[in-house]
Amino acid sequence: MAMATLAAAALAGALAASLAGAAWAQGDGGMGEARALFARGEYPAAIAIYDSLLGESPRDPEILRLKGIAESNSGRHRESLVSFYTILQDNPNDAVALAGAGVGFGNLGEYAESRDYFARALEVDPESVVYGNYARFVDGVISKYPYRATEKPDFEAASQRPSRVPAWTTDVALWWASGKIGNDEFLGAISHLVSEGVIVVHGSGDAPRGERIPGEETLAEWVKGNVTVASLAQAVRDMISGGLVDGPQESAEEKAARDRDDLLLFKNYITRIISNVDKEKRYIEYPNPSGDVIKKFLRDYVKWNFDEEAARAATNFPDPEIDVRAVGATTIRYSMFINDQPSGLPLNHVETLGDSMDYWEAQTLEYAERDARIMFSVTRAKHEANVWVTWVVRDLGEGVLGHAHVGKGIVEVALGDYACDGSFQLYDVATVQKIMTHELGHSVGLLHSDNESSVMYPTLKPAYAYCLL
Ligand SMILES: [Zn+2]
Repeated sequence: MAMATLAAAALAGALAASLAGAAWAQGDGGMGEARALFARGEYPAAIAIYDSLLGESPRDPEILRLKGIAESNSGRHRESLVSFYTILQDNPNDAVALAGAGVGFGNLGEYAESRDYFARALEVDPESVVYGNYARFVDGVISKYPYRATEKPDFEAASQRPSRVPAWTTDVALWWASGKIGNDEFLGAISHLVSEGVIVVHGSGDAPRGERIPGEETLAEWVKGNVTVASLAQAVRDMISGGLVDGPQESAEEKAARDRDDLLLFKNYITRIISNVDKEKRYIEYPNPSGDVIKKFLRDYVKWNFDEEAARAATNFPDPEIDVRAVGATTIRYSMFINDQPSGLPLNHVETLGDSMDYWEAQTLEYAERDARIMFSVTRAKHEANVWVTWVVRDLGEGVLGHAHVGKGIVEVALGDYACDGSFQLYDVATVQKIMTHELGHSVGLLHSDNESSVMYPTLKPAYAYCLL
């Protein structure tokens, strides 16, 4: 790796975000316009368009997802939860809707419910850094702020509808119970009853598939006439989730009716939560800390931005100490001043910085045609530091992730941006570390590389810590 001269360089190396194609199609019935508003954080105007589009197709998951996020970002937690819940009625494994519901319940301080939704999102997408961050947040907050969970409605019981069980099924069950027919024939008969709508079951339980038939005891009791139809339906539901019998063929009208009933229960549940939050004066810590971080950051703007110093940086910073007589390789010693982390930041970026220093200390560079090694030390005295590190948040759309003076001076590392969903969103740890390492590379004299796999490549696509899109 060639090293640029350490003589005061006026050049500032900037790392830019490579943004995925964000040109919204025109003539798509308003979606493009809504997305543009959404991307600028103009949520109420975007929501108005989503609402009119939903008039045409009320359960479109893509529109509902964006609407749910827009509602959440504008503090309309109840509406947001309803949007995500509607998606989940049609697709219980929609990861964004699951996480969105988790955020919604978290924003109401209903943390146990929130935790369940994040756990389900992680089951669908176990690799997601975002869902993992949220799950960790909720685990932490539950132990910090105990609260009384709001009672959940019994969706299962409410959705049970009367079933007609013909007499002959009792005979089949008796034959099975007395061993005259085997499990296969019996389960076939139950499947037939379910598919004919004789036994009506809704939703699915989550009984594991095992050796034994789930619900076996219930069936045995039912044969003896000791068990209600509702319990029988539960036993059959267990068989369905265990893959032993086929699921019900529910008509579109039946599903619509059940969805309406469930949504009403869900809305009542949210109403009770909101009323409990008021009554208990429940303390709420928002699951996505990005908004709080940016508020505090902007309040203390001067503390994070070395604008004035940056103007003088190239000439006034002391040069690093260069020991050309060191055995093996020239040693270049950098003394670094590290600004505090902005408060409320849940991710430890000072530790990240340590990893970036380790990275460069492990590299062999070249200085004056000789191998060179970098060594860092940290100082609290600005005047003796060769490099100052600070955390920045750039304005919307600028796409700058960080920048550094080459050889010595200021290193600025972006903590997040507004490019994910229009509101400020923190980057994940891996992104901050990449920016940090890149900028630190400039500060020890390196310029950009054309090699895409190099840490000194001039662009990268940032990933976010909490953004749902
Ligand atoms: Zn750069």
